[in-house]
Amino acid sequence: MGKIGLTKTANLLPRLRAALSGGIAQALETVLRLADEEGRTLYLVGGGVRDLVLGRGQVDIDLVGEGAMRPLAEAAAAALGGRWVEHRTFGTATVEGQDFRLDLAMARAERYARPGALPRVRAASIGDDLARRDFTINAMALALCGRQRGQLLDPFDGMGDIARGLVRVLHDRSFIDDATRILRAVRYETRFSFGIEQKTLALLKRDLAYLDTISGARLQHDLLRLLAEDEPEKGLLRCQELGVLAAIHKALRFDDELAAAFRRARRAGQPPPQPELYLALLGTRLSPADAEAIALRLALSKRQRQALEGAADLTQLLPWLSRSDIRPSQVVERLALHPLPAVQAWALVASQSPGGEKLGHYLEQWRYVKPSLDGRALARLGIARGPLTGDVLRLLKAARLDGQTSSRQQELELVRAVLAGRVEVPEAKAGEQ
Ligand code: ATP
Repeated sequence: MGKIGLTKTANLLPRLRAALSGGIAQALETVLRLADEEGRTLYLVGGGVRDLVLGRGQVDIDLVGEGAMRPLAEAAAAALGGRWVEHRTFGTATVEGQDFRLDLAMARAERYARPGALPRVRAASIGDDLARRDFTINAMALALCGRQRGQLLDPFDGMGDIARGLVRVLHDRSFIDDATRILRAVRYETRFSFGIEQKTLALLKRDLAYLDTISGARLQHDLLRLLAEDEPEKGLLRCQELGVLAAIHKALRFDDELAAAFRRARRAGQPPPQPELYLALLGTRLSPADAEAIALRLALSKRQRQALEGAADLTQLLPWLSRSDIRPSQVVERLALHPLPAVQAWALVASQSPGGEKLGHYLEQWRYVKPSLDGRALARLGIARGPLTGDVLRLLKAARLDGQTSSRQQELELVRAVLAGRVEVPEAKAGEQ
């Protein structure tokens, strides 16, 4: 690699101090004092430096130093009354106490034996450590102690790219080595409203096929990180435009309508939507077979898989839902068998259609409807505990939903009619409790 450029950036340390609160600030101060006493330099690296330069509030503290971190972690844990753990493979260590956690990583170089494989690592210089990173804006280090304290190591002109608003890889094989960087590039581009630098963009398009070399777990991880952004639809639209989604699976796609549904999802829910809802929204565009294949490709968890596949399965229910002759109780009976995120997703996508309206009613009202009478009340009326109790409760619930009863009194009359054999009780179908 080339010569490391040293840039004095006077305002970064004060910004770092301002960004840290109580426990972590004190822990960092202690670690830096101990490092100073050992005569070694610790650097803030990666996204933390980038976010300090950008002046973004919260800063991730990722620390790197040259050589093993264990002695420093041990000394810091003793001084702070905390614990330390060593992660041998990478020579890194974590120090944690009640209100802080600091990761101390050993500077390392990486070599990729084959595309997409996890890299082989060895102890190396801070310069090598920066050279293994994904983008110039993430490949800067701020010295936090020692003689270089306050100096910024910026060998790839990350500062220039931040100023220009560009996401740029460090070398031409970057996406081949690790194609998850394709998703990372889109994530940073859309989060910061940057652009992917022209040559990087050409490399990204050239290397799309290398997404095939990435394991399901890693692909899922980076896709979920994209979905965890404040406005994930921006990243997904960009992925669609660049062919990233199709490279993950030929049927996976995103469009303006889905983007609008994503935005509605955020307006609808108070806490930010769970990833399952976003996955279900993606599922509304898929056939059941494609949804299953994508769930498999992304090694989705059970809940995630149910959301994606559930939304794809629900597609076939929509023509039925849009009929005017079906009763609320029938809607509830059917929808109760589908995962909630799948129903929510279709309610967002099809909100304007008659079927969509019923989904909305189901979510807001119908699924909460309960009869006044419960199992104990039925027992008092002479219905022995057993399968019949469940059947009668279901009948009472259906009567409430369909407006045939609206009071406890009317429910009592209905039960008496059942006991007198004037009303027949339908038995539970498979899948209902
Ligand atoms: P975010 O702000 O989204 O948390 P971050 O920049 O902190 O992003 P992390 O995924 O936490 O990113 O990784 C920390 C740093 O590790 C990155 O800034 C980057 O320097 C490096 N890094 C992470 N993933 C990769 C990768 N796949 N290839 C190369 N470097 C990576």
